[in-house]
Amino acid sequence: MEENKKLVTILAPAYNEQEVLHLLYNKLNNVMEQNKNYDFEILFVNDGSKDKTLEIMQELRQNDNRVSYLSLSRNYGKEIAMIAGLDYCKGDAVVIIDSDLQDPPELIAEMLKYWEEGYDDVYAKRRSRKGETWLKKFTSKMYYKVLQAFTRIEIQKDTGDFRLLDRRCVEALKSIRESQRYTKGLFSWIGYNKKEILYDREPRAAGKTKWNYRNLINLSIDGITSFTTSPLRWATIIGILVSVVAFIYMLTIIIKTIITGIDVPGYASIMVVTLFLGGIQLIFLGVIGEYLGRAFNETKHRPLYFVDVYNEEKETNKNLNK
Ligand code: UDP
Ligand code: MG
Repeated sequence: MEENKKLVTILAPAYNEQEVLHLLYNKLNNVMEQNKNYDFEILFVNDGSKDKTLEIMQELRQNDNRVSYLSLSRNYGKEIAMIAGLDYCKGDAVVIIDSDLQDPPELIAEMLKYWEEGYDDVYAKRRSRKGETWLKKFTSKMYYKVLQAFTRIEIQKDTGDFRLLDRRCVEALKSIRESQRYTKGLFSWIGYNKKEILYDREPRAAGKTKWNYRNLINLSIDGITSFTTSPLRWATIIGILVSVVAFIYMLTIIIKTIITGIDVPGYASIMVVTLFLGGIQLIFLGVIGEYLGRAFNETKHRPLYFVDVYNEEKETNKNLNK
């Protein structure tokens, strides 16, 4: 037996995943068997599941002490479940993986290889997406485009959260305690040596996706507002442009009135201008509101999550969210 094996944590957030957890565990077990030169920890994060997810985690832990579980006090969403997992993971490296087996665990071996070569963030990029509607693919593509147009940091396209992170990336992510997290952007933001590997995304093994358009819209807005204030800049620029046009229009009307007198029928133009400006004003009020709301939420400095149970221990959350 070799001493000083490196510890690798496999972090799997799960929300109502009772149908797939056993399958996931079996696959992870294979990976662990095939990579004997590492020690492994499997850390399941139960994100307030309402089904048997927690019971299954407990059962898996009873049979295998490499398994740990962290059960949050309610459902917080995947972004928060991930940071909770990062806070509790022990590994020298962490692999974040979806519980539904859309991320093939077999890729972990390749990630480890690149990690040994000195990469800090080995992320898996989707070559294809099976079992997803064209609408989801299309919106996801547009979304990356829009987000990238708004921000200077590079947003990795077709990349989920499936990746291996070196301990220093983990510490970097842990030090970022903003509450409306957009982890996909944070991965880029922290920097370090990145390596891309390609894979085919599988359809969900079982269970239902928790993904929906409301989540996507929320996540998109979080993505934009957490990484750039350029929409505010756009508000200013568009405001200036509209004012210039309005000023020119005003001059022409005044001159026209002086030369040809008042012609009363102006209903259409007044309506158009009023509605147009009203719309623009509302949009930018909304934009300002988004940033204000964000600032409000962050100034509350609430802990990001509360833990119900970590392994067998009931948590009191005294010195949590360091
Ligand atoms: N997930 C979670 N909390 C949530 C929603 C999802 O921890 O509130 C987990 C879920 O169990 C899965 C991963 O996040 O492991 C991805 O979720 P899902 O498969 O529903 O999203 P999709 O792959 O369809 O984008
Ligand atoms: Mg999924």
